[in-house]
Amino acid sequence: MLDFVTALWLGFIGACIGSFLNVVAYRIPLGLSVVWKPSHCPKCGHNIRPRDNMPVLGWLLLRGRCRDCGAPISPRYAIVEAAMGTAFFVLAYVELFSGAANLPAALADPAGALDSVVFPNWELIILYAYHATLLSLLMAAGLIDQDSQRVPRNFLFLAGAVVCGALASESWFLYPERTRNILINQWKAPCDAAFGASWGALAWLLPLAALRRRSSDSMKRFLRNAAIASAIAGGFLGLRPIVRIFALWLVGILANRGLKAVSKSRLSPLLILWGVTLLHLACWRPLARLLSW
Ligand SMILES: [Zn+2]
Repeated sequence: MLDFVTALWLGFIGACIGSFLNVVAYRIPLGLSVVWKPSHCPKCGHNIRPRDNMPVLGWLLLRGRCRDCGAPISPRYAIVEAAMGTAFFVLAYVELFSGAANLPAALADPAGALDSVVFPNWELIILYAYHATLLSLLMAAGLIDQDSQRVPRNFLFLAGAVVCGALASESWFLYPERTRNILINQWKAPCDAAFGASWGALAWLLPLAALRRRSSDSMKRFLRNAAIASAIAGGFLGLRPIVRIFALWLVGILANRGLKAVSKSRLSPLLILWGVTLLHLACWRPLARLLSW
């Protein structure tokens, strides 16, 4: 029961972050301030009332329409909030309460919410927050790409700062899977972050360089956005995870192409990256056993 309530509470925080990311993705490409203006209806300009601003529930209670002018509000806002909420909820069980049993090497004994949150186990909480941060950054990048905008370069600096913080811990517990046989044994985790980020970026920058002349502007923008997002994922998780995520990502992109032929709605490949990263975080241990080298 306590586990469920705590997970629900974390899921609610995730949904609120999803709500914030919706605003970030809308305002940053327009050069607007993220913080200072309250949310308002784009049609009639009325401010959204606090009770209607509740993640997911607000949209459901309004049945997707503005309370003042009745203009339809895209279900995308509620979907993003629900996706982030679900991610935080799932990650609470598979990572936070389980003693990180999802990772190739567990951090602690499975203790449930009582021992991991109420009597805080900081390593576990930091690990959870670290992966939640990664998912938030990827979701924001995905939403910006979905709107055919350029992901700001500041995302890389922000992610770089978080990764530097992660590497400041002496035991490098935020990098549970380290590449074997990297030259400098004592520097495994920093090497992993650097190689992961470079691998993630190069996987998209090389085609960008090769196709420079022939590709359309929208293709170039996508390759650039994808390079930023996968560099972030690689830096956060390390070399082997990003190679595995990349393989899953390609499968997801192909599956999405198949779906698009049927439904005709376009889903940004960066949102697929968000999904496969969540999948990889949740199933890290079995995936590491299945696809290892
Ligand atoms: Zn309105």
